[in-house]
Amino acid sequence: MTVDGIEDVESFRRRARNWISTNLEPRSNRPQARLGIVQNEDDDLAAIARERDIQRQLFEAGLAGVCVSPEYGGQGLTRAHQQALNEELCGYEYPSRIQVPTFSPCASVLLEFGTDAQKRAHLPAILRGEELWMQLLSEPSGGSDVAAALTTAVRDGDEWVLNGSKIWTTGAWWSDWGLCLARTNWDVPKHRGLTVFILPLHQPGIEIHRIEMLNGDKEFCQEFLTDVRVPDSDRIGEVDEGWTVGVRWMFHERMLYNSPLVTRPPDSGQGGGVMRPVAQVARDSGLSEDRLVRDLVGEARMLEIVESRLLERISAGIRSGTMSDQSSAIGRLFHGVAAARTRTISCEVAGSAGAAWTNDDGEAAGAGIEFVMRQASCIGGGTTEMARNVISERVLGMPRERTPDRDTPFRDVPRSASAGSRRDN
Ligand SMILES: Cc1cc2nc3c(=O)[nH]c(=O)nc-3n(C[C@H](O)[C@H](O)[C@H](O)COP(=O)(O)OP(=O)(O)OC[C@H]3O[C@@H](n4cnc5c(N)ncnc54)[C@H](O)[C@@H]3O)c2cc1C
Repeated sequence: MTVDGIEDVESFRRRARNWISTNLEPRSNRPQARLGIVQNEDDDLAAIARERDIQRQLFEAGLAGVCVSPEYGGQGLTRAHQQALNEELCGYEYPSRIQVPTFSPCASVLLEFGTDAQKRAHLPAILRGEELWMQLLSEPSGGSDVAAALTTAVRDGDEWVLNGSKIWTTGAWWSDWGLCLARTNWDVPKHRGLTVFILPLHQPGIEIHRIEMLNGDKEFCQEFLTDVRVPDSDRIGEVDEGWTVGVRWMFHERMLYNSPLVTRPPDSGQGGGVMRPVAQVARDSGLSEDRLVRDLVGEARMLEIVESRLLERISAGIRSGTMSDQSSAIGRLFHGVAAARTRTISCEVAGSAGAAWTNDDGEAAGAGIEFVMRQASCIGGGTTEMARNVISERVLGMPRERTPDRDTPFRDVPRSASAGSRRDN
C-alpha cells in the first residue's frame, strides 16, 4: 500500500474512487439554467457555496492539495496521484471555479514566494475551501502591459497604503482574498518599481463594482482602492522586486491547465468545464449522422486531444529543463485559438437552437451565446497576441519589440490623461 512511506498511486486511486462515488453527485444531475442566459445572483452564490463545501469535504477525506506539502495542509504526494484523482472525478461534480485562479496562479505564487507564516496562514484555508482568491492585475489603463501598473503602494511605518483601480477581476464579488501588483517606486523604469501584496477583498477602502456585459453576465468586477492599508507582513517577495514575482505569476497563469495544484477531470473539456461537448450538441440537434457535422465534431475532438498532449509535452519539457518557462506561452496560445474555434463549431452544429432554444434542446441550447463570447479565451490570462510576442522573442529568439520606456523612470513615461488616477507621493 505504501512505497517509502507514500501511499501508492493505485491504492490512492481506489480510495479516491470509493469516496467520490459515495459523496459526489454525477455532473449530469446538476441543475442547468438553460432558458436563462445567465444564472441569477442567488444561483451563483449557491453554486459557490456548494463548491466550497465539496472542497472542504475533499480536504477532510485527504484528497485536497495532493501535491502540496503536509506542513501546509496538503498530502505531499505526486503529480501521478493528482492525475489519478482527476481521472476518477470524470463524470462527477468538482469545485471547478475554485481551481482558477485560487489554486493556480494564486496558491502557486504563495508557495513559490510566500513566507512560511504566509503559507501557514493561507494554504490550509485555501485547501479547506475557506479562502477563494482572485488576481488583481489588469487596470483600466491596460492589461497587456502588466508592468505599467498605476495602482500605487506607499509605505507608512509597518504598513502600505494602496490607491488605484483594478479591473476585469473575474468573480471578485464572491471571493475572499486578492493577489495584487502595485507600484512602489516611480523613479525607476517600470519593471523595477513594482511590489506584490495580498489583501482581503471585502474591507473598508475597497469598492467592488460588478460590470454587466451585453449578455447580462456580471462576473467581471472593477475594484476601486482608496487608502487601503496592508501590513508589510502581507507583502509577497521583496520591495520593488514585484516583476520577479510577476513573471512567475504569469507563468503559473499560462500553465494552469497543467498545474499539479489544479484538480480538473479530463472530461471537463478545454477550458476546465466551460465548454459544452460538441458530440452531445450534435446528438441533441439530431444531426449526429450528418457528414459535415461529423467532420466538425472530429475537428473539435482533434483540437481537444492536441491541446491535452501539447500541454503535457510542454509541462514535461519545462520540468526536465529541455524547454524554457517561456514555452508556456505556446500552450496558452493554442488553448485560446482552439477554444475559440471549438465554440464556433458548437454554434455551427447547434444550428437554430444556438440562437433561439427551449429546455428540450439540451447542449445545443445557447451555443450562440458562447460563440459571441468566444474571444474571451484569447484575452483572459493575457492575450494571444502577447503570447505570440513571447514565443517569437523569448522562445524563437527573434528581435525584441521596441520598448522606448524600458530605461526611463516610470514617472517620466508619457501616458494619456485617462490612463488612471496616479497619486503622487
Ligand atoms: C475571461 C477573462 C477573464 C479575466 N480575468 C481577469 C482577472 O481575474 N484578473 C485580471 O487582472 N484581469 C483579468 N482579465 C483581463 C485580461 O487579463 C486583460 O483583458 C488582458 O490582459 C488584455 O488587457 P486589456 O483588455 O486591457 O487590453 P489591452 O492591453 O489594452 O490590449 C488591447 C489590444 O492590443 C493588443 N496589444 C497590446 N499590446 C500589444 C503588444 N505589445 N503587441 C501586440 N499586441 C498588443 C492586445 O493583444 C489587445 O488585442 C480577464 C479577461 C478575460 C477576457
